[in-house]
Amino acid sequence: MPVDAALVGALHVEYLTKRDLVGEERPHHSLFQTSTIEALLDGSYEGDVSFAELEDRGDFGLGTLDALDGEMVALDGAFYQIKADGLAYPIDGRARTPFAVVTFFEPGPPQMLPAPMDLADLCAHVDGLVGGTAACCAVRVDGLFGRVKTRSVPRQRRPYPPLAEVVEGQPTFELRDVRGSLVGFRFPDHARGLNVPGYHFHFITEKRDAGGHVLACRLARGELRVDREADLRLELPPEVSLPVPGQVSEDALNRVERER
Ligand SMILES: [Zn+2]
Repeated sequence: MPVDAALVGALHVEYLTKRDLVGEERPHHSLFQTSTIEALLDGSYEGDVSFAELEDRGDFGLGTLDALDGEMVALDGAFYQIKADGLAYPIDGRARTPFAVVTFFEPGPPQMLPAPMDLADLCAHVDGLVGGTAACCAVRVDGLFGRVKTRSVPRQRRPYPPLAEVVEGQPTFELRDVRGSLVGFRFPDHARGLNVPGYHFHFITEKRDAGGHVLACRLARGELRVDREADLRLELPPEVSLPVPGQVSEDALNRVERER
């Protein structure tokens, strides 16, 4: 049984513990998330959900791995770890994640994008398509990119430092003239504390050999797919408490998630 439920913007959120995860049917237009961005910012880098369990809850998404060992991208049911060398590696189902959000991606019809566009143009375009700021959606762009600037994070040792400290020394990568996919989400501002409000994208090349957390990009041409999400099932590891939406500062998130 869910611990609690709340309405966060237009999103229905159910809080779960790991024992609630058994025997669920495959939901439509529903997100599954383990832990919260607030807990990750605070250095909770060990989770209780394995990738084998995550795979049962979505085929598309992003996150990280235990000990903050790189960026995670899930696409077409395959899960990849982008390590601190910027390269992509398949993830073993026994590996665990301290923070991830996934969905079974069921987009509307694909749309050619009026490229070239940068990340801000793309976000504005999806905003125009989805309307308002309350809705939550999963966003996929497949295309040719003139440039993608990504970062990853190196595996951490205990005692874990807060995320803002880790990203001070984050390795960044410039991918040029590369085919690949942006995999991301738009969360409403109300979801601050649960997840990153606004857009959050990870990138993986078409060859599935490199990628990372997207700091900037320039799309030469590409196709957009959007899946509007109605529900969020949020699993909380034992040491992570119910988040207070709105509590995490914009500043802390910007330092960690956006280009500085
Ligand atoms: Zn990220």
